[in-house]
Formats: sequence, structure tokens, C-alpha cells
Amino acid sequence: MADQIAKAQVAQPCGDTIFGKIIRKEIPAKITFEDDRCLAFHDISPRAPRHFLVIPKKHIFQISVAADDDESLLGHLMIVGKKCAADLGLKHGYRMVVNEGAVGGQSVCHIHFHVLGGRQMNWPPG
Ligand code: 5GP
Repeated sequence: MADQIAKAQVAQPCGDTIFGKIIRKEIPAKITFEDDRCLAFHDISPRAPRHFLVIPKKHIFQISVAADDDESLLGHLMIVGKKCAADLGLKHGYRMVVNEGAVGGQSVCHIHFHVLGGRQMNWPPG
């Protein structure tokens, strides 16, 4: 957890990221869904028995800088997330979350929805 917070503190809100490399297939990922607008793949460091990410192919750094024009794309990510969750058998629930900025715990500056499931989620998340 401390390492995740440390990464969030140094993440730069510009430039290419590891997710850009995954989109371009320059590095491997366990991709579970792809279309012309987005990609879903398993998180490399899962925080739950099921933990995957849904990202747009368009490089939006973070939710706070998303444009009004991104509304449909962001909605698409959530719909893809819920379909992938169903495909993984998460019928009793899951958590879908976006981390924003250093204080929000964002470590990769390419907007992404986390989908976590397979165990009971707690609130507040900490
Ligand atoms: P954030 O902390 O920005 O909300 O989430 C970034 C997520 O990306 C983390 O959960 C982290 O484990 C995941 N991640 C970072 N690098 C890679 C990678 O190279 N491959 C995959 N599959 N996930 C990654």
C-alpha cells in the first residue's frame, strides 16, 4: 500500500504511460476486452481476487481534465466494465472506482476505471 501511495505522489500528469505501451501492445497484459475505443485487462498487482482495469485508447490523463466531449467515452468504459464483471462471474457485486490525482491515489496518468470483486469490499476505502 505504501508503494502505491509513493507512486501516486510522483506520477506526472503528462506524457506517455505504461498504459500507452499496453494499448500499442509494446508490453504484454492479460487483455479481456478490446474495441476501437477501449481496453480491459487484469491489474498486474491485484487488490482483490478479481481486479481489472478499463482504459480508453484516447489518452485522457485523469478524470479532472476530462472534457465534456468525453462523456460518451467515459460512459462506454463503465458499460464495458460492467459487462467484463459479468463475464468474470461477479454476480454478487463489485466495486468500480476512479482514483484522481496524488491525494486520490492515482499512480498512472492515463484515466482508468478499476473493477474489483471476489471479496467483500469495505467502506470507507481508506
Ligand atoms: P492507480 O494507482 O493509478 O489508480 O492505478 C494504477 C493501476 O495500474 C495499479 O493498480 C497498478 O497495479 C496497475 N498497473 C501499473 N502498471 C501496470 C502494468 O504494467 N500492467 C498492468 N496490467 N497493470 C499495471
